[in-house]
Amino acid sequence: MITANPEHRSGTVAIVGRPNVGKSTLLNAALGQALAIVSPVPQTTRNRILGVVRRPGAEIALLDTPGIHKPYSRLGRTLNRTAREATGDADAVLYVTTGGPKATVHPGDRTLLADVGEDVPTVLVLNQVDRVKDKSVLLPLLAELGTLRDFAAVIPISALHNDGVDLVLDEVAKVLPSGPARFDEDMLTDRPVRFFAGEFVREQILLSTREEIPHAVAVEVTSFQEKPNAVVIEATIHVERDGQKRILIGKGGEKLKAVGTAARGRIEELLQKKVHLTLWVRVTADWTESESALADLGYGRDPT
Ligand code: GDP
Ligand code: MG
Repeated sequence: MITANPEHRSGTVAIVGRPNVGKSTLLNAALGQALAIVSPVPQTTRNRILGVVRRPGAEIALLDTPGIHKPYSRLGRTLNRTAREATGDADAVLYVTTGGPKATVHPGDRTLLADVGEDVPTVLVLNQVDRVKDKSVLLPLLAELGTLRDFAAVIPISALHNDGVDLVLDEVAKVLPSGPARFDEDMLTDRPVRFFAGEFVREQILLSTREEIPHAVAVEVTSFQEKPNAVVIEATIHVERDGQKRILIGKGGEKLKAVGTAARGRIEELLQKKVHLTLWVRVTADWTESESALADLGYGRDPT
């Protein structure tokens, strides 16, 4: 006879917050694997990414989301919609913010928190506390944040140094509904490796270019073939203008080569297999404003 274990909890938890506060870094720390790409560029995350974390007595399906921001393109509006839809589907929310030098509540946090449903249990995570030398300056901020809603818990952490992340998971597990595990034991994410191959290429571009280029780049994996001893991948990097293409390729193709080498390393680590990666750069004018191009590049409405 199979009996339900009333002690076991499971559910979906959306990681929500402004851009660049460390949502993806938190997902990676919780998973113990650098799955989601991270960079100092806002809007690094463009898709909702599921990562399944198991704790004693709980299965937590974390959803990384794009940071909600003032959109400047159709892509930006799509990212905000993706984040809001993930929040709407979640059993609980991990709301991530940071304490800046002035340590007052960011106006964006007030707006975003007001959007989270009243009945959705929310854990507040104050991230990047490693950047604050005198931790006592955080106390008034924590107190002020605590007045914004009735949080299930308020936890200062450093996602980058994996400090406090276990506590966050323990607290969020407590507010999940009771229920059995819903994912296979060895399942880490719902996205295929092919998706992460494209993301790892984009990550290297974000880390090595400036200004408008990170926002003008999309990576499309056009071929992904598993051979006995290696995986052979081809990807096209879409940019919006000729000048961007020139910069990305670099003198004698050096820039593109460096991007490819670094991305290949990340993919090999994930796959534990040798990878052959070929990159192409193509101008797809105004893809950030075209609904059909956005859909083709994987930024349309979520399939799930
Ligand atoms: P997201 O846009 O909210 O997903 O933020 P990311 O996870 O991409 O992180 C944005 C930047 O903040 C990256 O450069 C991270 O390395 C950095 N970051 C994230 N968490 C921490 C932290 O706890 N401490 C410090 N010092 N930096 C962090
Ligand atoms: Mg992110």
